[in-house]
Amino acid sequence: MNWFTRVRNSVPFLPKRATTDNLWVKCPGCQQMVFAQEYEDNSHVCPRCDHHGRIGADARLSLILDEGYDTLPIPEVKEDPLKFRDSAKYIDRLKKARAKSPHRDAFLVGEGAIEGKPAVVGVQDFGFMGGSMGMAVGTAFCKGAERALTHRCPYIVVTAAGGARMQEGILSLMQMPKATVMTRRLKQAGLPYIVVLTDPTTGGVTASYAMLGDVHIAEPGALIGFAGQRVIQDTIREQLPDGFQRAEYLHQHGMVDMVVHRHDLRDMLATLIDYLAPAEAA
Ligand SMILES: [Zn+2]
Repeated sequence: MNWFTRVRNSVPFLPKRATTDNLWVKCPGCQQMVFAQEYEDNSHVCPRCDHHGRIGADARLSLILDEGYDTLPIPEVKEDPLKFRDSAKYIDRLKKARAKSPHRDAFLVGEGAIEGKPAVVGVQDFGFMGGSMGMAVGTAFCKGAERALTHRCPYIVVTAAGGARMQEGILSLMQMPKATVMTRRLKQAGLPYIVVLTDPTTGGVTASYAMLGDVHIAEPGALIGFAGQRVIQDTIREQLPDGFQRAEYLHQHGMVDMVVHRHDLRDMLATLIDYLAPAEAA
C-alpha cells in the first residue's frame, strides 16, 4: 500500500462537495458559460449571443399556450413491430428514452388558448430519440389535427426531428402520407395550420408535415433541411454557401415566411391566428 492509498483510506467519510456542474451551461453558440437559472429564465436563449437552445415539449407548450392548458395522452401504438436491433435493441432504446423523459414518445399535443384564442399545439421533442417520427409521433400528430377539426380551431405544430425513426422501417415512412392527409383535411375545413420550425428539423419530417403549413415560422439559426450538408456537398461536388440550411438562408430564399425570436413567438402566433381564423358564423 503506497502512502497515497494509506492516507486516502484513513479518511473514512470525506464530505461530498456540492457539485457546481449543473449551475452553469455552456452555450453551444458562443461557447461561453451561462448561469443555468438565467438561461432557463430566458427560455433557453443565450443572453449573450441570442443562440436559441433546444427545449423540451412541456417547456415549449407553456411558452406558447396560456396557463391552464391540457395535454392529450400520447397514443399507444404497437411497440417494436419489427423486433429491430442494431447495436442495441429498439425496445431497450425506447425504455432508456422513457426513463429520461416525462412522456412515452416524442410528440406531445396541448390544447388550450393563445392569448385567449383557442388552439391546439403539437410539439416534437428532440430530446426523445432525436424527435424521430415513428408510429407514435405520426399518430399523435393526427390526433392533434383531429382535435383541431373537432373544435374548429387552428393547429400549430412545432417541429424538431432528425427524421423518421428507422427502427420502425417502412412503418415510420408511412407516417408521412398519413400526416399529409390530415393537413389536407385541415385545409378543406378552412382551419389554419401553422408550422414552427425549430433546430433541427430534418429528414422525413421536413419532407411531410413540416413544409405543408399555411405559414412557416422558423426560429433564428435553426437547421432546416432534408439531407445533411455533407451528403449534398459530396453529391453535387460543390462548396455550399455560408448559412446553408439555416433559418435565415431559407427565409431569404422563400422557403420559410418569417424568422421569429422565441420571445416574440407567442405574440406572432396570436396575430396570425387573428388573421387566419375562420370568420365567425353569422
Ligand atoms: Zn451564447
